[in-house]
Amino acid sequence: MKNKEIKILLSAPRGFCAGVERAIEIVKRSLEKYGAPVYVRHEIVHNKHVVDSLKSLGAIFVEELHEIKDKSRPVIFSAHGVPKNVPIEADSYKMEYIDATCPLVSKVHREAENLYKAGYQIVLIGHNNHPEVIGTMGQLPDGTIDLIQDEHDVSVYELHQNKKVAYVTQTTLSVDDTKGIINALKKKFPEIKEPFKEDICYATTNRQSAVKNIAKQCDMFFVLGSRNSSNSVRLVEVAEQSGCPHAELIHSDSEIPFDKIQNCKIIGISSGASAPEILVENFINSLKSKFKIKIDKIEIIKENVVFKVPAKLN
Ligand code: SF4
Repeated sequence: MKNKEIKILLSAPRGFCAGVERAIEIVKRSLEKYGAPVYVRHEIVHNKHVVDSLKSLGAIFVEELHEIKDKSRPVIFSAHGVPKNVPIEADSYKMEYIDATCPLVSKVHREAENLYKAGYQIVLIGHNNHPEVIGTMGQLPDGTIDLIQDEHDVSVYELHQNKKVAYVTQTTLSVDDTKGIINALKKKFPEIKEPFKEDICYATTNRQSAVKNIAKQCDMFFVLGSRNSSNSVRLVEVAEQSGCPHAELIHSDSEIPFDKIQNCKIIGISSGASAPEILVENFINSLKSKFKIKIDKIEIIKENVVFKVPAKLN
């Protein structure tokens, strides 16, 4: 196999976004400031490599606050955002908390709150049970946000007592699939109020556009990222929808399909917003051990977004 030459189209931008960089930095700075352990509610970002490395520094991950044994220690809320009752619960335990919710998720929370105050019935386009969706729905009283997952949901959706309607979206959806859902909503409810600036974030949009740009040229496409990472899973779908015959997610338990790769001339590689670059490097090194590799980096846009950590960690 070693003589087989394979070209890699390395998609860029890929990997960590500003919200993920900030959330990881918040955990590291909290460990420096408070010492270990600090608790983190839910995986700080959806990536096993990141979670394991923070565990080794002294972070303890829990799903709910009641699981925290030592409530005198601080707790960090993950980048996906939390329902309003979570900080209230932390206050009831007199726990110090640090919120690592991505500012672009917080923006959607504020939008939903403002729409609710203005009397709108709110539709959230997103995936059931994703922590970001649970967090956004949990900004408002039960039953005041309705989740829509696809165009079929739109077809059966009805307005409550002729209320005016508005929509917001999860930040990590497929840009193209969401367009279809929004068009169906606009057709059914021509007066529907749209977000001032779209909710799918810059990082999701850029990573998908970069994959779309090269997918057609690739015999196979690989996305480094975890199975529970929404934006990583979307990149796999985007690669296939954009003309690559076969795309796969490479996660922590994946075996690299060398037998299939050896039949390829060109493969594409990207990574989700929560996947560290070391995973891409390790993947490419594994390929180098079997094949002659040539790498072309195809970058469609430079990103320069940075989010500040909360002032109390400076
Ligand atoms: S993917 Fe987008 S919304 Fe999610 S953490 Fe990154 S920048 Fe924020």
